Amino acid sequence: MKIAIAGATGLVGREMQKVMEEIPAFADIELIPAASARSAGAKIRFSGKEFTVVSMDDCLAQKPDIALFSAGSSVSLQWAPRFAEAGCFVIDNSSAWRMDKEIPLLVPEINAHELSRDTKIIANPNCSTIQLVLALAPLHKAFGLKRVVVSTYQSVSGSGVKGMQQLEDEESGKFGYQAYPHKIHRNLLPHGGDFLENGYTTEEMKLVNESRKILSIPDLPLTATVVRAPVTGGHSESVNVEFEQEFKMEDVRNLLSGFEGISVVDDPAKNRYPMPLDARSKNDVFVGRLRRDESQPKSLNMWVVADNLRKGAATNAVQIAMKLIENKIVWPK
Ligand code: NAP
Repeated sequence: MKIAIAGATGLVGREMQKVMEEIPAFADIELIPAASARSAGAKIRFSGKEFTVVSMDDCLAQKPDIALFSAGSSVSLQWAPRFAEAGCFVIDNSSAWRMDKEIPLLVPEINAHELSRDTKIIANPNCSTIQLVLALAPLHKAFGLKRVVVSTYQSVSGSGVKGMQQLEDEESGKFGYQAYPHKIHRNLLPHGGDFLENGYTTEEMKLVNESRKILSIPDLPLTATVVRAPVTGGHSESVNVEFEQEFKMEDVRNLLSGFEGISVVDDPAKNRYPMPLDARSKNDVFVGRLRRDESQPKSLNMWVVADNLRKGAATNAVQIAMKLIENKIVWPK
């Protein structure tokens, strides 16, 4: 099995390699790391072997079975169709294909059934969307979602190496590359992506539109505020949910803790609740601060945390690859 990573030198690409190294099924794959011309020729160690970073052209010429793309939207728009035409399954981390009606937007625990041999490009959702929908999915099935209000506190690693660099520079008193329009150290920016005419940002509208698509609720009332925080590894979300039906708190806890990929961390008496530092390098989504919204009926508050580079990106993409393999969609040809 040949697996390519386009963007292998980036934050998500490197995390993909770590996630795959933890899964025995990937130990013997032939890795094809690809990146921009700047990195061609660099060496990467994976599962005890050395691989050379190649250009996108060379990567395609090596005919990978699966390609995990994490090199930004323009690379995905240009290259994903060419890889797909060559018979490769592309799992794309960018926003390029997510809202295309023909392309599945996949969180394996929720909608893996949408994978098929005919759909060669598969979109990986936005990092903050993945952790949100994972926490909402079991509750929606049981009680029906009526309305969702989410505010995020997103890590600088969500902006790639440049976001990390700005925070590190500012922490050490240097002022170098600016990933954000303002200082991020000791600050919060209510600004993710670009501002749109409706006053929301592109990151906020991704949360709205992608959640609706994944959960198959096209008209779900969902409103979002995205905030960038000086945190290095993990996004947090304050989520308020109104349900169609009444619920018991005990059922909420049981549904969440029984759902694949979710860990409930909720013991206020011991100061135990999800935090980005604890979520770092973990594959699960952590949910806590579970409590009724006392301001209106049938409503719940929760706090949802995940490592954006793991379940928000690399882990979810690798899990999609695993489903393609386990369900014999990619192999044998
Ligand atoms: P990053 O750290 O800036 O890495 C970007 C990667 O893309 C690098 O490997 C870079 O290679 C490569 N690249 C840039 N231009 C290229 C080109 N023309 N051809 C081939 N490769 C090229 O960014 P990141 O955070 O890993 O994000 C990558 C993608 O994943 C983005 O689409 C992002 O929106 C998405 N994503 C990120 C997160 C997150 O939490 N960070 C979560 C979900 C999705 P060089 O090293 O050679 O420049």
